[in-house]
Amino acid sequence: MAINIYKKKRLTRPNLVYWFLLLYIIAALGWWFIALNIQNQQMTGYRLSMLSRNDPAYVQKVQKIYNERDRKAARNIGEGLLILIVILVGAVFLYTAILRQARIHRQQQNFMMAITHELKTPISIARLNMETLQKHVLSDAQKEKILKSSLQEINRLNALTGNILVSAQLEGGSYRLEKEFLDLSAIVKESSQDFMSRFPARPWHKEITEAIFFTGDPLLMQILVNNLVENAVKYSQPATPIFITLKKQGNKGILEVKDEGMGIPEKERKRVFQKFYRVGNEDTRTTQGTGLGLYLCSKIARDHNMIIHISSNRPQGSIFTVHFNLTQHDGNGA
Ligand code: ATP
Ligand code: MG
Repeated sequence: MAINIYKKKRLTRPNLVYWFLLLYIIAALGWWFIALNIQNQQMTGYRLSMLSRNDPAYVQKVQKIYNERDRKAARNIGEGLLILIVILVGAVFLYTAILRQARIHRQQQNFMMAITHELKTPISIARLNMETLQKHVLSDAQKEKILKSSLQEINRLNALTGNILVSAQLEGGSYRLEKEFLDLSAIVKESSQDFMSRFPARPWHKEITEAIFFTGDPLLMQILVNNLVENAVKYSQPATPIFITLKKQGNKGILEVKDEGMGIPEKERKRVFQKFYRVGNEDTRTTQGTGLGLYLCSKIARDHNMIIHISSNRPQGSIFTVHFNLTQHDGNGA
């Protein structure tokens, strides 16, 4: 509720000032136009009154004065229209800039709230688990369960802080890409193994072709794969399967992460790669997140000449496909 009030306040004040200024400028332009026309009429009247009816060239002179009045009026209309067009174009630019700013501000607000929650939850759970271990005498099975849950929370925390740090570093230009010859099959295998042990009840389907090599930054590749798999887990029901495929197609490599979850509507598919963007709104969203994962994926993909594409899974769910250039085993691009 508090968020909505805040949103409204931030959006309406600049809007009101903007519309007031725009109307004022257009009204001033209109007034300037009317004043010029009145002045034109007055000048015409004055010049006509200066003419003598006995002048043999009286009719021609009157005609000349009227022609000049019409020319001036046409010039005023032309100038007025030009200024109006410039004002309106500027107003459209300004309005879209204000809307963009408001959206970024709102997303940053959401991000701050999401991040606070996302950081606090795993820390609280891990602390509670440690306290339980410290205060109570537990069976081995209970200890195992508590340790596993703590480890899961710490993994979440690790992934989240990794995302935040790397995106800040990539943006600030302080992250130095360390591209090296990589066994992508091993990275994808390791990441999927990690998720399989964190979510053992899931039906996992892996199809990872051995020896797929790629030249890239190992940490960033890991982040890319982890974010795609994490989303597949997060945005689908626990009983639905997740498919992870890494294969060759000609001289290209393809990584595919497929789920049978809620899917992403067509019109949202570009937006989900924007920073802090999350589908839906605060009231309808059931999952926690910061909206950084896919932004980071698209940035990493761009830095590695990879292409990420979203399509629909049938009958439901999403397919994230990453196309990339293979590197031959001797270290040369294919
Ligand atoms: P985090 O920063 O923790 O990853 P997030 O998962 O919300 O937060 P992104 O990974 O950038 O952020 O995803 C952006 C949005 O795209 C998500 O909020 C979700 O609405 C949508 N989305 C991403 N992956 C899927 C998916 N596999 N199925 C359905 N929706 C998805
Ligand atoms: Mg995510």
